[in-house]
Amino acid sequence: MKISELFYSVQGEGKRAGRPSFFIRTNHCNLRCSFTGGNLCDTPYTSWEPDDKRNIGEMSTDRIAEEYMNIRCNDVVITGGEPAMYPEELTKLCRKLKELNENVFITIETNGTFTGEFVKYADLISISPKLRSSVPYGTEFEKMHSKNRINSETLKTFNSLKENFLLDVQWKFVYTGPDDIAEIRELQSETGFQDSDIYLMPEGITADDLKKKRAETIEACKEGNFNYTDRLHILAWGNKRGV
Ligand code: SF4
Repeated sequence: MKISELFYSVQGEGKRAGRPSFFIRTNHCNLRCSFTGGNLCDTPYTSWEPDDKRNIGEMSTDRIAEEYMNIRCNDVVITGGEPAMYPEELTKLCRKLKELNENVFITIETNGTFTGEFVKYADLISISPKLRSSVPYGTEFEKMHSKNRINSETLKTFNSLKENFLLDVQWKFVYTGPDDIAEIRELQSETGFQDSDIYLMPEGITADDLKKKRAETIEACKEGNFNYTDRLHILAWGNKRGV
């Protein structure tokens, strides 16, 4: 599996925010987000510039599991980049983590464009579908990103797993403005996910960005009956690697 970084920190977003967690960040992504607020993806070293010299490179499941056992916390977050680009390795890794620690709680953070057998071993799938506000307009990636950013069939599959109590799912959206809400509503009517599973977080990669957007995002949550989530790691450490 191509790995960008492994680190121990706290989950900064969503319903597990504040939980000390071992992070496994995979390298490479099938999308190239560039938000209307002016920021690129917050981990461009896994998407726009997946420089294998600065990232760890290929790592076996056993080797990743060994690193986890040195930390041994119960929460593991597998994030990216896009971890579901490697469905078989991801399944193998989740299975291994469960074998090593029966109390492990595995969150997989994904853009929701792929699914696979890994869903059987995950405890929470944190899906962050990429809205129109993420399209890198005017770049060589605009067409590819627009075509691939939403996979309705995959999103429906995740929602049906949740409805059948087979898996917990949260839908986490970067909030840039009111147009995002209209698009979230379109996705909801197509896919069926509930307001109570939606988390909005302000678009931004600095504490200042978040501050500017926070009140508006909270108002959008009140209006839509969604959950608000901040980005604790940005507030605590800024947009750094390994936190
Ligand atoms: S889907 Fe996530 S990792 Fe991929 S480019 Fe967008 S924000 Fe970055």
